[in-house]
Amino acid sequence: GHASALVLAGFRDVPDFPEPGVVFKDITPLLADPVAFGAVTAVLADLAAATGADAVAGIEARGFMLAAPAAERAGAGFWPVRKAGKLPPPVLRRDYDLEYGSASLELAASAVRPGARVLVVDDVLATGGTARAACELLEEGGAEVVGLVVLLELAFLSGRARLGDRPVVALHVQD
Ligand code: IMP
Repeated sequence: GHASALVLAGFRDVPDFPEPGVVFKDITPLLADPVAFGAVTAVLADLAAATGADAVAGIEARGFMLAAPAAERAGAGFWPVRKAGKLPPPVLRRDYDLEYGSASLELAASAVRPGARVLVVDDVLATGGTARAACELLEEGGAEVVGLVVLLELAFLSGRARLGDRPVVALHVQD
């Protein structure tokens, strides 16, 4: 639909970044276009409202840029899920495997409220490891993940399969 076309037009393909052979999907043009950014923000806010989300969680850093305006527009709180080492203690932490190596995400223990309904937002769903770690972190804190929304799902990487029963909405799917 409309959002899918805007997402497609708003991404830029960057070959051989961050490594040779990888085509990086760059969200920068979408953020810079007021029509596309506004429309995407509106869709995300609608999904937050429809799922009864108390909070919208964004995954650092591009997830922040999408989740924060959507949360504000939906009347929900914004919870940053951060890369390790950025937040003051106490934090909840989750380590996870990447294709090469590992990474860690953290959540402020004071932000997560047990029983809160939270919608998780990121720009791209690739292998699903990052999104799964974010969901597990929020659930460890006692929140209920009502779904994951991404602008772009790279379906050939089967990330959705790593998210179990959690609802996944992609505004655009690339096969
Ligand atoms: P995954 O853990 O393999 O699903 O990778 C998803 C995470 O890496 C998300 O936080 C994305 O922001 C980032 N990511 C992976 N591939 C891309 C890409 O092509 N463009 C932008 N972000 C990406």
